[in-house]
Amino acid sequence: MMQLFIPLNFLGFVYREIRGALANIERMFGLLDRVPLIEDKVDAKAIKLSRGELKFDKVCFSYDTRPILNSVSFTVLPGQKIAIVGDSGAGKSTIVKLLFRFYEVSSGSISLDGIKIDELTQDALRQAIAIVPQDTVLFNDSLLENVRYGRPDATDEEIAAAVKMAHLSHFIEALPDGWHTKVGERGLKLSGGEKQRVAIARAILKGSPLLVFDEATSSLDSHSEQAILNALKEVAKGHTSLVIAHRLSTIVDADQIVVLSKGQVVETGDHLSLLANNGLYAKLWNIQNQ
Ligand code: ATP
Repeated sequence: MMQLFIPLNFLGFVYREIRGALANIERMFGLLDRVPLIEDKVDAKAIKLSRGELKFDKVCFSYDTRPILNSVSFTVLPGQKIAIVGDSGAGKSTIVKLLFRFYEVSSGSISLDGIKIDELTQDALRQAIAIVPQDTVLFNDSLLENVRYGRPDATDEEIAAAVKMAHLSHFIEALPDGWHTKVGERGLKLSGGEKQRVAIARAILKGSPLLVFDEATSSLDSHSEQAILNALKEVAKGHTSLVIAHRLSTIVDADQIVVLSKGQVVETGDHLSLLANNGLYAKLWNIQNQ
């Protein structure tokens, strides 16, 4: 019986892993059935990136024949926080999709630590980036296992440290079953803010040099939003972070804010310089702070 139990148990683990991963990617971008499979080049580099320097250089991209991004350029130095803002449909999520190489750029290039992403294996690329998506899909297992998903070989101590940094400890300690609490199908037993903090804990555990945070569009209560912002500040220490922002109040501390309009960068700067510019950013800021 034991001989059967171990492989069956392992199969169950593999199934949960795959289901969780697919659900996450699928929900993140609703792409799974549409993404053409991108192959690694024969000489693609399987190296571990560690600095977290990101460069978009004159990136153009079209969906079929419809131009979406037009010569988008920016550079983020290791440890810096960059925010991408702009109206709905401006191309913010497309920037993240291209960074993950779900699609190839039409022209221009994207580099991490000075290496063009199409010269890396996709595995090396995915290891270099941790994403906190808008709507994290959790699998129906314990909180502990859901956080462990960020790095399956992490010890319980490492998971506890990540949970603390993600400002989830108080929430978990207040639950009768603590971190053995089952999160329910698709994490239904957690609020949006709690789910995002689980995703932040996963990202901390993964330890990638570049963190991508896709801010939830649906508004969270101010307590949850503050908890998430505090958690992000922790995770951003020593990492490069790219934030797709909807609420400008969350990115006033960014080193660089890239303002997109109809797929083009129309302004770049920090919060104060962009306000002083009195352009699109100042307009969006005024609308949100009336
Ligand atoms: P939002 O703030 O509403 O999330 P966004 O700035 O992230 O918007 P994108 O999702 O990057 O905008 O979309 C940019 C443009 O590309 C939009 O006009 C959108 O309709 C279009 N688009 C997005 N995905 C696809 C796709 N798979 N095929 C064709 N067009 C697409």
